[in-house]
Amino acid sequence: MGTETLDFKTIKQILSGADSDENLFAEADRIRRSIYGDAVYLRGLIEISNHCKNNCYYCGIRADNTNLTRYRLDKDAIFDCCRKGYELGFRTFVLQGGEDPYFTDDRLCEIVSKIHECYPDCAVTLSVGERSRESYQRLFEAGARRYLLRHEAASEELYGVLHPSDMSLANRLRCLYDLKEIGYQVGAGLMVGAPGQTLDHLLEDIRFMEKLQPDMIGIGPYLRHADTPFGRSSAKCAQGLEKEQKLQLTIRLLAILRILFPYALIPSTTALGTIDPEGRALGLKAGANVIMPNLSPADAREKYAIYNNKLYTGAESAQGIALLRKQVEEAGYRIVTDIGDVKRKDSQ
Ligand code: SAM
Repeated sequence: MGTETLDFKTIKQILSGADSDENLFAEADRIRRSIYGDAVYLRGLIEISNHCKNNCYYCGIRADNTNLTRYRLDKDAIFDCCRKGYELGFRTFVLQGGEDPYFTDDRLCEIVSKIHECYPDCAVTLSVGERSRESYQRLFEAGARRYLLRHEAASEELYGVLHPSDMSLANRLRCLYDLKEIGYQVGAGLMVGAPGQTLDHLLEDIRFMEKLQPDMIGIGPYLRHADTPFGRSSAKCAQGLEKEQKLQLTIRLLAILRILFPYALIPSTTALGTIDPEGRALGLKAGANVIMPNLSPADAREKYAIYNNKLYTGAESAQGIALLRKQVEEAGYRIVTDIGDVKRKDSQ
């Protein structure tokens, strides 16, 4: 299989399982090794808040979920996570959270610039949702260089199935293009097997990402949370795909994305590890080259429950790095602890 064969008809055929997965994964691995070798980059994930003003129908930290104990980390708690992470070898800190109005530009800029000042050899990545262009600009000036904002669904129709009417695909995309223009390394992505999602929707996602050319692509299986409209509904259309189908489809899409976006940084996500004990390793073998262990304080981790049974101990936690290293080596790769910037075609 070569990249020239990956027209949309072929992609759909691969996603539907009509072709050999073995050839697909071998080609994705070959391309990943030709650019990134066997390196797996680490990002330390700090979940700064589970407060969120939004009401995405799939997400456990949605505003209307009253069964959740809410928390937010203050700046000292965040610096403490960075200090521990730095000692463990992390050189990228990802500050992720719900859209929490507490984190005003002033507060977030102060945190970002302090991390940037204390750890000049580290990258600060933000993943705190949709903000104004001015806000993104200020955060960039404070030292943030990467931003993760999954587009969630490039189809207007599917975006509307997954989100209430006060959220819009147009604003999500505006944010992604603003971030790019400002100079961030940008991450887009989506959940695989989400309620209402078809293979044609995934093709639309690929088409959109071909236009955006993201530096990072985050995909993981959709997982149910009982305290959400989808989680509560017994309707077939609210369920998403079956577990095994979701796993297979995620890994296949991951391999396709590696082939189409050879230079992208692609994580083997926590959701993959949650859906199957082998999920993380399967993701790496299909072309993923990033892992984001959890650096959040132990009592915050279980509260950042975007879906049920989310992993946050063992190799998922930053403290379990020795176990993670072993698992990554068993899969045939090697953890590296440098800043791990995206490589670009013209920089090779
Ligand atoms: N608020 C930020 C944002 O909107 O990008 C970051 C936090 S948000 C919880 C991070 C990601 O979690 C979302 O982009 C979504 O794809 C994923 N997510 C939320 N609920 C999920 C679920 N039930 N299953 C799998 N992934 C989920």
